[in-house]
Amino acid sequence: MTKPAPPNIRATALIGGHWTDDGLERRDTVSPVTGEIIGSFPLCTAAEADRALQAARDAAREWGATTVFERIDIFERAKSVLHTKRDALATLITYEQGKTYREARGEVDEAIAHFDEAITGCRDLEGKILPSAVPTCRNYVYRVPRGVVVAIQPWNYPLAMAVQHIAPALAGGNTVVMLPAPTTSLVGFQLADCLVEAGVPDGVLNFVCGEGAVVGDALTRDERADIVVFTGSTATGKLVAANARNRAELLELGGNGPTVVLDDADLDKAAAGVVMGSIVNAGQACTAAELILVHEAVYDAFAERLSQEVADTAVLGDPFDRATTMGPLQNEATAAKVDAHIEDAVAKGATVTVGGARSPGYPTKLYWPATVLTGVTGDMVISHQETFGPVMPLRKITSEAEAIQLIDESQYGLASAVFTRDVGRGLRFAERVSTGMANVNLPTVWSEYHLPFGGCSGKGSGTGRVQGRYALTDTFTELKTIIVDLGE
Ligand code: NAD
Repeated sequence: MTKPAPPNIRATALIGGHWTDDGLERRDTVSPVTGEIIGSFPLCTAAEADRALQAARDAAREWGATTVFERIDIFERAKSVLHTKRDALATLITYEQGKTYREARGEVDEAIAHFDEAITGCRDLEGKILPSAVPTCRNYVYRVPRGVVVAIQPWNYPLAMAVQHIAPALAGGNTVVMLPAPTTSLVGFQLADCLVEAGVPDGVLNFVCGEGAVVGDALTRDERADIVVFTGSTATGKLVAANARNRAELLELGGNGPTVVLDDADLDKAAAGVVMGSIVNAGQACTAAELILVHEAVYDAFAERLSQEVADTAVLGDPFDRATTMGPLQNEATAAKVDAHIEDAVAKGATVTVGGARSPGYPTKLYWPATVLTGVTGDMVISHQETFGPVMPLRKITSEAEAIQLIDESQYGLASAVFTRDVGRGLRFAERVSTGMANVNLPTVWSEYHLPFGGCSGKGSGTGRVQGRYALTDTFTELKTIIVDLGE
């Protein structure tokens, strides 16, 4: 494709239906793809957080009283606006986030799919009339909005994660204050603009941007937020959970996508699954395959097969180029973390068989090639922490039970995968493994938008579920009970 021209976007906050950045300091947004400035955004403060929350509070009663059919009309228009702007949005996502243009278009489609889920979800919300011991009484139980939602997003899927929060929140009759990650504020701003164009009333969606430690902290501490919805790292998630104490929360946090290759696995299929799980969004996915547990009986054969698969399919380059399957990492902090994890593993005895260092010759220093590490052991940081880059560390296991135990001991519990030719064995494994999602003979990153998505309890990958109907019932609405005495 011809490379689209870089965007030049001047983002502002949206508070109570007014676009505003009066007197606020601004920050430039630099593209990880080209190193160019592609726009700027205001650094909102606690004062804008306060005004945005008040605007959401003020709009909550009226929006909560709209019928689901009125909300659905707006979602249909939002889908149509996103569809019309699909190419421009995908271009911005690629320039600002760094993923390939193909994946960026997929992200716009995912955002549209989340609106579809919200439409189905709110149309199908059911109430009940429960029996009463009193013949003249009727007990109504039905779902009502919770109120004001604070929704905070990460930078890895800036459009899709935002809609994943906003669509069910609005569908449930709540108003929203949204905060994007600073490095992808322009996508967040464009989404807010699309929703205004679709007819979301003033104050129902408010958009603020800036430093999470300033704006996010103010939003999550404030008692006017009835629900706090956060997708981001485990470390920030803990701060958010502490701030949101005693209020409803939905936390979608980190993971390391343990992928288990058993002794009877189809190694071609497993290698393809691991590479797909590792290079999607250049490894910057919460479900990315970042720890590969390989049975000793097939370890050497699998390592060889995997290296070949990487050579065949992991093409680092300009994300607008059709042949490219992996763009740059999004930011320097992430790239530095990948550097550090590899250095630590190599210092402790791991061998780099493919990749292993940033690729020179690109417009920025953020281009990290797909990397395979063998000889990975439990004392290495990469065995325990989320790397968030296209790195496949191969750790040897001697049994299926050992894999289950290593995953049990991990701080994460988001997504896992197992590869085996024996589907019964795979299903038994999936039933026992301590992750909220487990795939058999499919990569960790595989999901569908109507399926519940989230980590298992007791671990550091979060609580609650996004996607599909469960977010709407479990997080964005609550039950109301009304007892009516009909009289004699
Ligand atoms: P991050 O935790 O650094 O930031 C996430 C958001 O939190 C940003 O908008 C940031 O501005 C805000 N923030 C920062 N400090 C805050 C504070 N003190 N209070 C409130 N908000 C604050 O995460 P990131 O680097 O943007 O995103 C990557 C992480 O997100 C990875 O760990 C990844 O696994 C995780 N993630 C999880 C899922 C999931 O569904 N489980 C999906 C995508 C990403």
